[in-house]
This record gives sequence, C-alpha cells and structure tokens, in this order.
Amino acid sequence: MTQHGTFHDLITAMAEPGCPVCRLVDAATRARIDMLFYEQLTLVEIRAEIRAARGFCSAHASLLPGPTRMAGNAILHHDVLNDVTRQLGELAPRRTGSFASILALAARGAIRAARDVIAPKRACVLCDYEREQEVLLLRALARDLGDRRMYEAFKASQGLCLPHFHAALGVSDVSVERLTLLIDLQRAHLERTRDELSAWMAKQNGSYDFEAPDLADPQGDAPSRAARLVSGRVIHTDGRR
Ligand SMILES: [Zn+2]
Ligand SMILES: [Zn+2]
Repeated sequence: MTQHGTFHDLITAMAEPGCPVCRLVDAATRARIDMLFYEQLTLVEIRAEIRAARGFCSAHASLLPGPTRMAGNAILHHDVLNDVTRQLGELAPRRTGSFASILALAARGAIRAARDVIAPKRACVLCDYEREQEVLLLRALARDLGDRRMYEAFKASQGLCLPHFHAALGVSDVSVERLTLLIDLQRAHLERTRDELSAWMAKQNGSYDFEAPDLADPQGDAPSRAARLVSGRVIHTDGRR
C-alpha cells in the first residue's frame, strides 16, 4: 500500500459499515494469503518461518483451505509435521524408539522436551502481518485527521472497534494533537452506539424475545453492530509465541 493508496483506502472503507481498519486488514490478510500460496511457497525463509511457528494460529488456519490451495497446504503442513516428528524421533530412546519405555525418573524431562518440540518458536506469520498492517493504517488515519476529507470521513463513519482504538493510541510518530482529536471523534462513535443499544433495549420493553431482528427498523441490528464495535475482527494469536 502506498501512502496515497492508504489515504483513499481509508476514506473508502469509512463509508462502509463497521470498523474501517478491520475491513482493510481483513482484505490485506486475504491478499497476503493468496500471495503466499501463489508466489512464495518456494521461498526457503518463508517456509522456515511457518515451520518455526508450527503452522498458523487457528483463526488464520481457518482461512487457508480452498480447492486451488490443496498442493500449497500439503507442502506447508508436510513441512511442519516432518519437523515435529523428526525432532520427537530424536528425543525417543534409541533402543526402543518408544517414549513409554522411558523410566519414570526421566519421564518428566522427556515430556517437557517433547512439549518444547511441539511449541511454536515464533508467532503466526499472518498475525505478524496483521499487526504491521494495523499500525500502518492507524498511523495514516491518525496523522491525516488534520486533512478535512479524512476528518469528515471518520466523523461520518461507524468508528474504530475498541481493539483498534486502543492500538491507535499506542502508535508511535503521531502528534498528541491528532491523537486527542481521534479520542474526541471516537468517543462520539462509542457514545452513539451505546445510546442505540439503550434505545433498542427500551424498545424491547423488558421482554426479550429471541426473534430475528426487524429488518425494517434501522436500529434493529444495534446489538450485532455493538458486538463488532466492541470486539472487532482482530485476530490475536491464541496464546502462542
Ligand atoms: Zn477494528
Ligand atoms: Zn494468526
């Protein structure tokens, strides 16, 4: 993404429902997966990174399958399984080849060593990519809030999800003027969504039936929008490092 491209991507995404950064990061990650499968499978460094990460986190792994990606999935995952089984093989006693034959005294150590072999040595490469894209987009968004077009587009948008709001305030190389302006604009988005939820709950009149939302009611989907605003579609590695 070029500086110029990022500006326009953000403005366009702000006209769409939900957090604009979630939307753009999702698109970028899917494009990254395509590139990985169609152009980078033969790159030794990439394969080594994926092997060291013991594949991908569960959330990103769920994006990988596809009829045109069978061969790619076979190559990548053969790599991982081959590495794990080879290292486990090296830990097993040479004479019996079986972990169950290890004496109780040494068994704890062998189990710990087996665990270390299975554990990822680095984060999921797609999670790393998402973090990089987020920082790039959030920095551009915050810096360009001084531009009237960005300011108006963000004001009219549905705002950032909470995880991206949190991340935005931690991005380096952005002036305090821009960050405080971001807080003011984002607060309005959060308060508006909260008020829509209050209105939605008041309308239920205390009786929550679990029927499908009334599509004719523009506020009918307030609970699902609020859930997306609170959690975003931010993928965190599932405790893997
Ligand atoms: Zn978001
Ligand atoms: Zn991941």
